[in-house]
Amino acid sequence: MTLNHNIFTSKVRSMQPYHVPSCGGMIKLDAMESPYGLPADMREALGNVLALATLNRYPNPHSTSTVAKIKQVFALPASCEVILGNGSDELIQIILTAVAKPGTSVLSPTPSFVMYQQAAELLGMNFVGVDLHADFSIDAQAFLQAIKDHQPAVIFLAYPNNPTGMLLDKDFIREVIAAAPGMVVIDEAYSAYADDSAQDLLASDDKVVLIRTLSKIGMAGIRLGYLVAQPETVAQFEKVRMPYNINRLTQAAARFMLEQKSYLDECVDKILREKAALYQYLSAREGVTVFASQTNFLLIRVDDANAVFERLRDEHSILIKNMHGYHPILDNVLRITVGRKKENAKLCQALSTILG
Ligand SMILES: *Cc1c(COP(=O)(O)O)cnc(C)c1O
Repeated sequence: MTLNHNIFTSKVRSMQPYHVPSCGGMIKLDAMESPYGLPADMREALGNVLALATLNRYPNPHSTSTVAKIKQVFALPASCEVILGNGSDELIQIILTAVAKPGTSVLSPTPSFVMYQQAAELLGMNFVGVDLHADFSIDAQAFLQAIKDHQPAVIFLAYPNNPTGMLLDKDFIREVIAAAPGMVVIDEAYSAYADDSAQDLLASDDKVVLIRTLSKIGMAGIRLGYLVAQPETVAQFEKVRMPYNINRLTQAAARFMLEQKSYLDECVDKILREKAALYQYLSAREGVTVFASQTNFLLIRVDDANAVFERLRDEHSILIKNMHGYHPILDNVLRITVGRKKENAKLCQALSTILG
């Protein structure tokens, strides 16, 4: 080996790659995907649309028509600008790249979405996590104190939070915005499943940046997220974004899918109904604590999460997410993405076999 690995940053050398377990032939309830694909007629129509994509030309660098469609479908405030990301993961990276200076802090409750910390640290910034209480609620006092102590350039608030599935108190978010010296990024990956949105806060303060994704509403495969903020803020992010970051196939597919918004809404409604049924089943089971959730997943606590996770996987071909070991408040916690009726029934059956 002649490549001197000291050229890689010590952060990169010490990291583990993001692990995605193999899932061939498994019932996949681990990644907050929608279980619903497209009916045959819609698939054919999508095929016709994609066939017309001009693949020999670069895409529109500002994704103009896709942005217009998103603004319209999600009724985004006219005074705000939108930029698209290759998933909201890329938007998180763009936001942080734009502010990355040595010594800069990034703040978020923990546990929350792991990419906030990972992206911040990769860029050489200082990530500060403020632990949630054991009941998954925010330690408001500690959080506001951390803002004072660390003066973060960016604060991430997932609304609702992944992995705890809960919404923060809206007045607390207002307090955070008032106290923040920099941006407050509200990550609404699960807005379709939640009772509330913080979209109204966009107008109240130019510190607020909203990010959302199409991944959790049936389009994880196309990788598309959007960011909404004041034009002056978006203008800074635009310099960081790679010019052709959203490819033509993704843009065409997104516009097509958003034309079928009523179908997407039906799928969300079905998932919410399935979630209610699954919640009811799980809460009636002895040996399982199930937590309320504003998302398309449910968290449960069992006596031995590792054993339940492994037996579901190895004996029943059901893949869920084992959160045990991620954070002390997630001890023996499992995260289950709501699937189709049949898949959820198989999960329930498997759980009764395993838990006796
Ligand atoms: C899933 C998720 C994302 C990332 O979504 P992509 O658009 O697929 O990159 C961002 N934030 C939270 C809280 C999520 O759960």
